[in-house]
Amino acid sequence: LERTEPNYFGAGPALLPTSVLQQAAKDMINFQGLGLGAGEISHRSAAGGNIIESTKKHLAELLDVPDTHEVFFMQGGGTTGFSAVPTNLSASFAKKTGKKGKPAYVITGSWSKKAAEEAQRLGFDPEIVVDSKKVDGKFGGIPAVEKWSIPADLSNTSYVYFCDNETVNGVEFPDFPFDKFPGVEIVADMSSNFLSKKIDVSKYGCILAGAQKNVGLAGITIYIIKKSLLEYPSDEELTKLNIPLTPIAFEFPIVVKNNSAYNTVPTFTVHIVDLVLQLLAEKGGLANQQKVNEEKAKLLYAALDKYPSVFNLPVEKSVRSKMNVVFTLAKGTDSDFLNAAEEKKLQGLKGHRSVGGMRASLYNAVSLDSVKLLCEFVEDFGSKNA
Ligand code: PLP
Repeated sequence: LERTEPNYFGAGPALLPTSVLQQAAKDMINFQGLGLGAGEISHRSAAGGNIIESTKKHLAELLDVPDTHEVFFMQGGGTTGFSAVPTNLSASFAKKTGKKGKPAYVITGSWSKKAAEEAQRLGFDPEIVVDSKKVDGKFGGIPAVEKWSIPADLSNTSYVYFCDNETVNGVEFPDFPFDKFPGVEIVADMSSNFLSKKIDVSKYGCILAGAQKNVGLAGITIYIIKKSLLEYPSDEELTKLNIPLTPIAFEFPIVVKNNSAYNTVPTFTVHIVDLVLQLLAEKGGLANQQKVNEEKAKLLYAALDKYPSVFNLPVEKSVRSKMNVVFTLAKGTDSDFLNAAEEKKLQGLKGHRSVGGMRASLYNAVSLDSVKLLCEFVEDFGSKNA
C-alpha cells in the first residue's frame, strides 16, 4: 500500500492524503475487526450508524458547528444541491411566511450561474442580485456590493445563494456581505473550499459541499443546515403555493430525521471523510490548515506574477482563489506548459474544458512541498520564456 507522493493539482476528484487512503484500504477489507469492509456493512447496523455519527461529530468539532445547526449527508453531488436547494429552502420559507417567495442569486462564476439556471428551470424565478460577467464582461472579479441590485424590501426573499469559491474561474469571496441581507437565510456552495479555512457557521442557513475536492471521494455531499429551516408545510399546501415537491430522498427534513440514511448511504465514502477530518484535527485543525493554504497560494501567485510577459492571471487580485489558481500563457500553447510540467511529474494542471488555460488546485491534501516544486517549475518556465 505504498506510492510515491504525487504532485497532483487536479480540481476534482482531487488528491487525498496517502495516509488516509492507506487506512481506508484496510478498512475497505476489514473495518474495526468486524471481518467485513466499511462498504459492506448495512447503513442501518450499529457499525454503519457509528460511521455516520463519528463523521458528524468530528465535523461539528472541527468547524465549531453550533447547536442551532445540523450536519447531514446526501448523494448526488453539488449539482443535485442546485436542484434540492430551491425546493427545500422555499418550503422552509413558506412554513414561516405562507408565501412562495423568490430566491436571490449572486453569480460570480460558472457554478453559481448553473445553480441560478436550475432555480429558474424549476420555476422559482430567481432575482439575480449581481452577475459579475454582465458587469465586467467576464468572470474574474466580484463587483462592489454597491453595484448589486439588492431588493429594497427583502420580506419576499426566500434565501440568498452564492458560491464561496468558483472552481472553474478561480474567484473566491474574501468575505460575503451577510449584513446586506438582514433576516434572509444565506445558502453557500462551498464544494471547492470547504474546510480550507475557518468560517462562522452560525451566519449560514445552509452550506453544501461535494466531498470530492477537499474532504473525500466523489459520492457524498455534506450539508449543514439551520435546524429552524427543517419545518415544512404539508405537501398539499406546498402544491397550492406552486412550490414543487422535493424528491423524497433529497428532502432535507426526511434525510435529517433518518440520520442521513433514509436510503442507502455510501458508508465507506462517508468513512473516508471521517478519516480526513481526524487527520485535519490531528494536524492542528482549520486554523493550521488555513495558514498552510494561505502560504501555498501566496507562493504560487508570487511565482506567476513575477513573469507578466509569460503568464496572464485573469482574476482580480482581491478575489483570487486560494484553492484554484487559474492562468493562461501570454504566448505559445497550453501544451507547451502542460507537457513540460508532466515531465517534472507535476500533474493535473489543465484548466477546465470550458475556459482552457491552466488551473492549479491547491486543496488541503496538496502539500507545501508540492507547491514549492510547482513554483520552481513556474519560475524556470517563466525565465526561459520571458
Ligand atoms: N459547485 C462547485 C463549486 C463545484 O466546483 C462543482 C464541481 O466541480 C459543483 C458544484 C458540481 O459538483 P458535482 O459534479 O458533484 O455535481
